[in-house]
Amino acid sequence: MTENILQRTYQVAVDAPILESLTYVENKTLPVFRGDIVYVPLGKRTIKGFVLSDPELQKNIESKYKLKEIASIDSEWPRLSEPFLKWLEWIAEYYIHPLGQVIQLSFPPLSKNLKQRKSNRAPVVPLLKKTQRPLLTSEQKKCIDAIPIDHQFSVHLVHGVTGSGKTEIYLQLFEKCLSKNKRGIFLVPEISLTPQLVNRFVERFGDEVAVLHSQLTERERTNQWWAMIEGEKKILIGARSALFCPVQNLGVIVVDEEHESSFKQDEKLKYHGRDCAVMLGKFSNCPVILGSATPSLESWRNAEEKKYVLHSLQSRVDDRPLPEIEVVDLRLEKENPKRPHFLPFWLSNSLYEKMQLAFEKKEQVALLLNRRGMANMIFCQDCGYTAECPNCDISLTLHAQSHLVCHYCDYHQNHSVQCPQCKKGELTALGLGTELIENDLQKLFPEQVIARADRDEIQSRSDMENLISDMENEKINILIAKGLDFPKLNLVGLILADVGFNLPDFRATEKSFQLITQMSGRSGRHVKVSESAGQVIVQTYNPNHESLTYSKNHDYLGFAKNELLARSPLSYPPYQKMISFRVQSMSQDLAQKTVQLIKSRAQSLQQKFSEHYKDLQILGPAAAPLAKLKNNYRYHMIIKAEKSSLLNAFSRRILSDQKWIPSKVKVIIDVDPVSLL
Ligand code: ADP
Ligand code: ZN
Repeated sequence: MTENILQRTYQVAVDAPILESLTYVENKTLPVFRGDIVYVPLGKRTIKGFVLSDPELQKNIESKYKLKEIASIDSEWPRLSEPFLKWLEWIAEYYIHPLGQVIQLSFPPLSKNLKQRKSNRAPVVPLLKKTQRPLLTSEQKKCIDAIPIDHQFSVHLVHGVTGSGKTEIYLQLFEKCLSKNKRGIFLVPEISLTPQLVNRFVERFGDEVAVLHSQLTERERTNQWWAMIEGEKKILIGARSALFCPVQNLGVIVVDEEHESSFKQDEKLKYHGRDCAVMLGKFSNCPVILGSATPSLESWRNAEEKKYVLHSLQSRVDDRPLPEIEVVDLRLEKENPKRPHFLPFWLSNSLYEKMQLAFEKKEQVALLLNRRGMANMIFCQDCGYTAECPNCDISLTLHAQSHLVCHYCDYHQNHSVQCPQCKKGELTALGLGTELIENDLQKLFPEQVIARADRDEIQSRSDMENLISDMENEKINILIAKGLDFPKLNLVGLILADVGFNLPDFRATEKSFQLITQMSGRSGRHVKVSESAGQVIVQTYNPNHESLTYSKNHDYLGFAKNELLARSPLSYPPYQKMISFRVQSMSQDLAQKTVQLIKSRAQSLQQKFSEHYKDLQILGPAAAPLAKLKNNYRYHMIIKAEKSSLLNAFSRRILSDQKWIPSKVKVIIDVDPVSLL
């Protein structure tokens, strides 16, 4: 039977793992428009969907494809605004993710509840008295004056050491924004979203502040969301996902600590909060401010190319001194005559003595261990040598005690125990964890209170908040952490800088530099000139490593220049863009076969359109550095090219018609991957 009547149809993005939008027919009783939230039938279910198009007139072609009707409209949520919807569409396109699932992120978990239920939790945002703003330093004033808060898109990179007054700049930019009756978003990494930070905003803006972070209850989240949507609150402070709150009338977006890798979500929609913030500013016609003491090289290069406006703050407020960074060469410890025999291998005499002094002065100490990728780390304890891949310039990792492997290109070489550099030492795998450190410290300093701020110990936000208040109240003497944001520290020790150097990751040097510089920024931040500067001790087997030299001299510019020079010949970001395909399966055989299949699809695509894809590079496939996680075998293949649009189109072609992917295998695509572990 063929009907031939005209009917109104709509494109609907459904909340399901489908990259394309689906066509539905109007429901005569329900007029709908682009941006509306509707419910539509899909198979036997009814699911949420988002209307993308205004109605189109279309012939109903054949009854076997009879289009289904929109079932109902959800009138609780406001219709999404055009700039916001365009931004969501950009995200879905760029990250190759179903639009219906992207849009889903813009809604709070629960529906609006008019009756406020009693809760015995502390309010999300406290009530505090407003305080006076300080007089700006000339550097701060210059920066604020150069950032126009008007209805125009621009991106600003504020580069200034910790304590140079960046947060004060943000506060005053938000003031300008509110005075124009606009709203603002302040994004920070989850771990920096501390009560102290929120309080600073509340002391300036009173009850106009809303906060969103992962530890709120669903009801709290929902309430904060509505308070922002309805304009009751005007500044939203949040971790990356706060961007998805459809704030109307945006006047400014600030992303602090923009270099932080935690802005990248590494599950489901793998978006980068900083990059999405820039695009949201673009679609909303408002300025975006990125701030950091150690800008990411991506942002730095954008500033060099004048895509971003650079603002530099050279000195700390009140000229508080920058701490001294002392690099301790662990290679010399074995022969150090002053070294007491009872010290554990990971602790140098120098750090030990400084710790004793600190305790005498009743000061707190923080020790950092950047533990990622630890188990596989092999190196020579005599000379600090580690093996690198000749093709990729990243560290090789040890497999089955017999060979070294590159996790980008799958290069293999035999593992010899004797160090090829000094010919004396042995290449050994090093085992070091926060637990071991805690045990050793308990024996060395039995009268000191030790706390560990790692994932095993800190499970929730309240654990984190308790830890912060215990630190502030000086109930803790030694803190062992992976990263930190505690203001009152005067001695910070990095147990082993080398862990960062040796990650099988092209960003390893950048990450080490950031860690050490951020660490030194935290130390002595509140010390006045008259007092001694904070102290930072960095222990290492590679005292001449570039990232150490630059951080010791507080020389970001030198570091950036050098690191960009190193990345350029291998075309790593920011020179080129990357997309990674990760294949996961409980079956190693299936995972391996699938990643090979992806590789051959990629190769034949490149051959078929050789002119178009000639500058695209295919790396691997190789086993991922974390080759097995939660019983899943993991392989990856990486593609690189200058233009992200080229990579995007190429990836969509590889993924098209997914019937070739076996059912027990997951293929995960990561655009601009931050972690290649
Ligand atoms: P950053 O965000 O760069 O680390 P902050 O804005 O937090 O810097 O400033 C560091 C410290 O200096 C804070 O205690 C802040 O209150 C104070 N501060 C910032 N600007 C001024 C100023 N213009 N005058 C006096 N103190 C200031
Ligand atoms: Zn390689």
